[in-house]
Amino acid sequence: MSVHLQFDPIRLPPECETLRAEVRAFLAEEIAAGTFDPHQPGHGDAYNRGFSRRVGAKGWIGMTWPKQYGGHERSQLERYVVTEEFRVANAPSHLHFVADRQSGPILLRYAPEHLKADVLPRICRGELCFCIGMSEPGSGSDLFAAKTRATKTDGGWRINGSKIWTTSAQVADYMLALFRTSPPTKDNRRHGLTQFLVDMKTPGIAVNPIYQMTGQRGFNEVVFDDALVPDDHVMGEIDGAWKQATSELAYERSGPERFLETFYVLPELIRALGPEPDLRGAEGLGRLVAQLHTLRRMSVSVAGMLQAGKEPVVEGSIVKDLGTLWEQKLPGRVRELTAFLEPEVINHATLDEQLAFATMIAPKLTIQGGTTEILRGIIARGLGLR
Ligand SMILES: Cc1cc2nc3c(=O)[nH]c(=O)nc-3n(C[C@H](O)[C@H](O)[C@H](O)COP(=O)(O)OP(=O)(O)OC[C@H]3O[C@@H](n4cnc5c(N)ncnc54)[C@H](O)[C@@H]3O)c2cc1C
Repeated sequence: MSVHLQFDPIRLPPECETLRAEVRAFLAEEIAAGTFDPHQPGHGDAYNRGFSRRVGAKGWIGMTWPKQYGGHERSQLERYVVTEEFRVANAPSHLHFVADRQSGPILLRYAPEHLKADVLPRICRGELCFCIGMSEPGSGSDLFAAKTRATKTDGGWRINGSKIWTTSAQVADYMLALFRTSPPTKDNRRHGLTQFLVDMKTPGIAVNPIYQMTGQRGFNEVVFDDALVPDDHVMGEIDGAWKQATSELAYERSGPERFLETFYVLPELIRALGPEPDLRGAEGLGRLVAQLHTLRRMSVSVAGMLQAGKEPVVEGSIVKDLGTLWEQKLPGRVRELTAFLEPEVINHATLDEQLAFATMIAPKLTIQGGTTEILRGIIARGLGLR
């Protein structure tokens, strides 16, 4: 069955530009106070509880959520502006970002009232960090092959097994996890998984570090040994999580953070080429900026469609696929375009350091949040091609 594919031609409204100015002023103050360095590789990945609380106090976490739960009832387009400015500035939003982007919206839809009232306002205040427990050894792309078991017991569920590649588990307060509650059925191999809210302080949870090439502790293995999760921490339908997982992925895949992770080397290129670049420099830079502009229009369009209550799963997958390829290619293009510049116009040592970091994080970009091949499968299905 073919699905209609459409990028609504959405532009950011004027109130977004007022907000952008406020965000820039706030970030400039934080930079001046020494909270982070916009040119320092890796700062965007840092966890900074003080900074997250100050962002929460500004009203920039849970921006689109109901006021009743600490949210601010602003639009997805306004949220887009905040995400974009934070990413471009390399601001340390890692602590609150996953909760803001996808865990909060899941809780809003599926958590019981008392949990919403307890957890959502704390997310909005920048106090909570969430991690995503989907991938397991042996089930990454094939999410619905997950084996970590949740077994019904008195008053709750006993969890046994392990998750892997879990970003932020070492600092997270909660995990939103998919566990197996029943075997798959003959007719539906996606059946049998349930989503749970797991308090990471629960006895029986061990978090083991996995380091990235950059030396950062990017992610973890999380081992569950008879950890008890209460009944009221089940999110949504028992055995039916496959229905809710796809809409979570539309939030996860389409935002500007999906093509701006190596962005910080682009201003360096512009600075190095100067106001009158030669033909090769101008052509190379023009191409990169034109592609970025197009990606941005597409990503804004997806934000607008989320605002309109649509589920742009295919469009979000297209943005993530094209966006990650662009950010992956960027460090190499910057290296090519700056290699022959004289030392008077460019500090090669500083740029080399920035490019080295961007090059080391490049391989992960097309894997995290769904691999290129998987996204193309989703797009092909959406277009009725498979
Ligand atoms: C930086 C980073 C952060 C991450 N953070 C998290 C996190 O917080 N929580 C979490 O749950 N997971 C996280 N992941 C895991 C990520 O979602 C998985 O690595 C990803 O889904 C791929 O799964 P896999 O590693 O098991 O590879 P596999 O699924 O084994 O895939 C291996 C290769 O085979 C290809 N392939 C697999 N199936 C198909 C198919 N049907 N058709 C065509 N090609 C196919 C893939 O594209 C890939 O190239 C993170 C990953 C990275 C890199």
